[in-house]
Amino acid sequence: MLGLMQSQQLLISSLIDFAERHHSEGEIVSRRVEGDIHRCTYKDIAKRSRKVANALDHMKLGFGDRIATLAWNGYRHLELYFGVSGSGRVLHTLNPRLHPDQIVWIANHSEDQVLCFDMTFLPIIQAVHSRCTTIKHFIALCDADKLPADSGVPGLVSYEAWIAAQSEKYVWPAFDENSASSMCYTSGTTGNPKAALYSHRSTILHAWAGALPDALNMSARDSVLPVVPMFHVNAWGLPYSAAMTGAKLVFPGPAMDGKSIFELIESEKVTFAAGVPTVWQMMLGHMQQGGLKFSTLKRTVIGGSACPPAMITAFNDVYGVEVLHAWGMTEMSPLGTVCTLKNKHTTMDAADQMKVRLKQGRGIYGVDMKIVDEEGKELPWDGKAYGDLLVKGPWVIKEYFKGEGGSPLVDGWFPTGDVATIDPDGYMQITDRSKDVIKSGGEWISSIDVENIAMSHPAVAMAACIGMRHPKWDERPIVVVVKKPGAELTREALLAFYEGKTAKWQVPDDVVFTDAIPLGGTGKMQKTKLRELLKDYQFPSA
Ligand code: AMP
Repeated sequence: MLGLMQSQQLLISSLIDFAERHHSEGEIVSRRVEGDIHRCTYKDIAKRSRKVANALDHMKLGFGDRIATLAWNGYRHLELYFGVSGSGRVLHTLNPRLHPDQIVWIANHSEDQVLCFDMTFLPIIQAVHSRCTTIKHFIALCDADKLPADSGVPGLVSYEAWIAAQSEKYVWPAFDENSASSMCYTSGTTGNPKAALYSHRSTILHAWAGALPDALNMSARDSVLPVVPMFHVNAWGLPYSAAMTGAKLVFPGPAMDGKSIFELIESEKVTFAAGVPTVWQMMLGHMQQGGLKFSTLKRTVIGGSACPPAMITAFNDVYGVEVLHAWGMTEMSPLGTVCTLKNKHTTMDAADQMKVRLKQGRGIYGVDMKIVDEEGKELPWDGKAYGDLLVKGPWVIKEYFKGEGGSPLVDGWFPTGDVATIDPDGYMQITDRSKDVIKSGGEWISSIDVENIAMSHPAVAMAACIGMRHPKWDERPIVVVVKKPGAELTREALLAFYEGKTAKWQVPDDVVFTDAIPLGGTGKMQKTKLRELLKDYQFPSA
């Protein structure tokens, strides 16, 4: 017997419809590329999202067509979030920090039809547009009078001119909630980047779970600052959860420095902010220097990389701000765990409580997880046994876009590439990473790519790239090199060799020359051994 409840597809358009109807005056505040502060409401965003939808229809873009963005966090980007997905197209958020060659590869792979970009990124567009073979329309996210007379980009139009002529009336189409809504490429594994393709259903369920009290705890009384970029896994779903709850949204635009972020928190009475540790490191540094205090900030979610204990202490003890340590991945939309306390922890002394807070947290409803040994046998949740962490749930991928890399699942579970323990209360803690990548300031660097460039130098016999703990960037790559017999090579010459071959921030910080790199039985480089050998290593600048 079937239930007799209304069957309504979970579609992203319903979020902006809800926000417009129930929180029409809810504020969206953005620091713009132009430098000023822009204010609007959910009502405005809803109207302009419908204009975007009409503009896309007008261009005869089909259901499922990819519309790319290369943009900071801001109201126009938010309008694209709703206008593109709501009208049945797929929003593809490109990461501007990637090397232009990677951007070209990704845009061609996803077969983007339109690219909307902030003017900050005009130089990137000028460099890549002729190689982006599927993009038919370039749209600059600015007013018509900010468009340069000779941009060098054929047919470039301004976003404001593009939507101005369109009606703000539009009936959002109804379709299957499993249809694709947005996509995000990750270079978190080796080989070419691969895309997670989110659906309307997965996005709504994720936003719903993310808003729960023991997750990010979002409400209409919050003023939310997503410092995490909208090009990184949809800013952890915050734009959707905000529309669902009517929370005020505050967007930092391109100004991610400590001073700008602090000022925005104060001026917009931010209660909740989200970002990677590096961002908070810069902001805390600015506050310490100026003896500053927060007046409204209550909670901050920190994820993307492990949160250092000193950061939790500083936020909590010095500034009275609760830190929610969180873990997730692009492949998980991204939320997997959030570290909120259970009743039993609230009476613990500070030192024991800190041990819990340092963990990546417990699963939120919707995500199941397990740890397994090398044979795939499940390990106990005793807080000691560590193994490969696997997850499953309705907002975890089942495969990558275009089936790249084959089926990633093992018996229906997605292997995260993280190594973890889980304690009897269900708190997961990452202890290591089995994937060969380095995370610097929240962005991935493939150690294989770094090694391959070094290996292409005629004086290099063998190269191993490893990530070393770094006070500002969490991890930075260094490359350990064995020279060919009789070959001459200096540190500076090898670092210069990287120029132009990869993005600047992906160039290793240092070169360490050695006679031999430890190898395992199968001839594979033993990076754990190498890390042990270099345990006293200091960065040249540190
Ligand atoms: P991404 O797909 O870029 O979001 O990166 C996901 C990966 O970042 C995870 O698989 C982890 O390796 C790492 N990561 C994310 N959050 C944390 C955290 N709180 N602590 C440690 N590592 C994390």
